[in-house]
Amino acid sequence: MTSPASGATGVDTLPEYAPIPRSALGPALNDQGYYVGQVERNLYYVTDGVYQSAFLTTDDGVVLFDAPPTIGGNIQRAVDEVAAANGVTNRVTHLVYSHHHSDHGGAASLFGDVVHIGHEETRRLLLRDNDAARPIPEVTFADRYTLEVGGERVELAWHGPNHSPDNIYIHFPDHDTLMFIDVVNAGWVPIYNTNLSEDVPGYMAAPAIALDYPWTHFICGHLGRLATREDVALHQRYIADIEASAREALSTVDPTPYYMHYPENFWAGVKAHLDTVTERAAAPVIAKYTGVLAAADIEIFTRTTTFAIMQSLRLDSGPSGPVHP
Ligand SMILES: [Zn+2]
Repeated sequence: MTSPASGATGVDTLPEYAPIPRSALGPALNDQGYYVGQVERNLYYVTDGVYQSAFLTTDDGVVLFDAPPTIGGNIQRAVDEVAAANGVTNRVTHLVYSHHHSDHGGAASLFGDVVHIGHEETRRLLLRDNDAARPIPEVTFADRYTLEVGGERVELAWHGPNHSPDNIYIHFPDHDTLMFIDVVNAGWVPIYNTNLSEDVPGYMAAPAIALDYPWTHFICGHLGRLATREDVALHQRYIADIEASAREALSTVDPTPYYMHYPENFWAGVKAHLDTVTERAAAPVIAKYTGVLAAADIEIFTRTTTFAIMQSLRLDSGPSGPVHP
């Protein structure tokens, strides 16, 4: 019997999905709801199982990388825990934004008067968004910036737009680690529309740029565990399969019958045609990656990512269609 409450929310009719493989999940959380793990030496990451933040402890202060609001006050608790165990300061002095999005930076104001560092486009977008929870970066850069604190070195770089216009690569050369947010979800499919990305060709090219860096540990910003080079390569294969499947479907689905069916409603013809191409392209990828990438059987994610890539193939790569003679 269903309760009125579950009936009202509709949860009793929600679908069931394949179990999530243990390897896609991170370590158990503590009673406060977080896990803090050593990445290498004095570099740590913090997760609530869904979001990730990172910090570097130094003799001169703690450098924080992103402040997701879902982790919120647990970021300082994690810093306190590590600082106490190692006898170093727990005072956060610097905060680096990976990109301007609120879901990764919305707890930045908790850290008060620290030095905020970000790409110049992050500054512009945060001025636009005018959100007191995300203080404007005072230190900005265009292409590269070397951050040196307490004898530690971090290399920040912008290699063009991808998930967002301002998303940067954060390389820790002395910690064998790269932090690059919201492109690869370690062990999981991207969510809707290439992980809610604004620049699809940039999103598709970004993993190769990430792999060009030397690193063993990868902080991807989501879920509970660190990523490996194989996680990035698996993500690349998933995206490459979608691209190949979308090309194939675009070239083999004949649009004519869909437009003939709706002689005056041109948009109905567009919908019928593109929905057919999307479904044709996504179906084999969903089948191939179910059981390989977690949540691959949540079909809307692969479908919307396929739609976004298929549109990018038409509009960015071109041609969108034959030229009228
Ligand atoms: Zn984002």
